[in-house]
Amino acid sequence: MSYNDVFRRAVEQLHTEKRYRVFADLERRAGDFPRATWHAPEGPREVVVWCSNDYLGMGQHPSVISAMTETAEKVGAGAGGTRNIAGTNHPLVLLEQELADLHGKEAGLVFSSGYVSNEASISTIARLMPDCLILSDALNHASMIAGMRGSGCARKIFQHNDLYDLERLLKEAGRDRPKLIAFESVYSMDGDVAPIGAICDLAEEHNAMTYLDEVHAVGMYGPRGAGIAERDGVMHRVDVIEGTLAKAYGVIGGYVTASQPVVDAIRGYAPGFIFTTAMPPAIAAAARASVAHLKSSQAERDRHQRQANQTKLALAGRGLPVMASETHIVPVLVGCPEKAKAASDMLLADHGIYIQPINYPTVPRGTERLRISPSPLHDDALVRDLADALDAVWSKLDLPRRYQAMAAE
Ligand SMILES: *Cc1c(COP(=O)(O)O)cnc(C)c1O
Repeated sequence: MSYNDVFRRAVEQLHTEKRYRVFADLERRAGDFPRATWHAPEGPREVVVWCSNDYLGMGQHPSVISAMTETAEKVGAGAGGTRNIAGTNHPLVLLEQELADLHGKEAGLVFSSGYVSNEASISTIARLMPDCLILSDALNHASMIAGMRGSGCARKIFQHNDLYDLERLLKEAGRDRPKLIAFESVYSMDGDVAPIGAICDLAEEHNAMTYLDEVHAVGMYGPRGAGIAERDGVMHRVDVIEGTLAKAYGVIGGYVTASQPVVDAIRGYAPGFIFTTAMPPAIAAAARASVAHLKSSQAERDRHQRQANQTKLALAGRGLPVMASETHIVPVLVGCPEKAKAASDMLLADHGIYIQPINYPTVPRGTERLRISPSPLHDDALVRDLADALDAVWSKLDLPRRYQAMAAE
């Protein structure tokens, strides 16, 4: 047996299932977002990126870039160690304070990514509660699922955003058993939002702890950008709020905020926090500049919502099947993996528009889609170009057109 054959067969399987991933080799240009150079097989080409999670363009914000470069000039590139052994740097401590303040919690803890923050925190919190039962929304992110599995605790899944199903499971478990409800605020593939306040009502009634992933909402919702829980006035009722510094904040890293005892326990027990090098100071300073900017500036959020709405209206106006979304996410249904890939390839080749197709297992089979993420920097002219291009591609590939109910915003 050749070891390579094992992997070759595994990769062939991906091809058969139309799940083989091709990465676009992009060179973003600071000051020019959402335009980028695509290093295509035939050579470099100018494209407009319509699927970035740098939702507000903060990755190129002058104050973020200068915080990064100035800090690196001053203190060097790396952190130099784990948090426990020489790696805890001052900009990182300030970032954790900034994040605790953002969410109105006693303490914050930063990890190398949002993925790691979920995996390490959920597994540690659940493991430390005797006989803990985890109640998990059906559409929770892979990083949360990894944390639940890692905890070794029992897990039950409630139907997506379904309060009745959650209540049923809470009753079944009984008041005395420790319970952790794990859910997200904005679900990023459909753009729908959890009823956070009502979930907190249930948690309080049935004595459960709450863990909320606000990854797709931090920076973007709420008067200081703390997310949907802040917008809804229920942030103080959620026990643990998790977020990323890599999406709307435009840098890298993940975090949790919670009470001092919870954060202290994760700090002392989570291998994914302990046995890895700390975030470099320049990164921490850049992330903090971004968080601080969006705490006080509403302009990016207002313009973001406006451009997301303009995009939904422009596409729906062409009869394109825009899926109902309450948020900034604009999913357009294709319903077939080959066609989603073909549409994406055609947009890139013929129109210089980059939108990665979203296929199974990220979304259920039959709901393959183009997931469009407008930013404040996608101006009305770019929105018109996008509508023209999608219109042309939909005709050329003979894709279904229909109107769906759109959430009024
Ligand atoms: C992207 C994402 C994460 C992971 O965050 P990273 O900082 O990219 O590792 C966690 N949860 C959700 C819901 C996400 O979409």
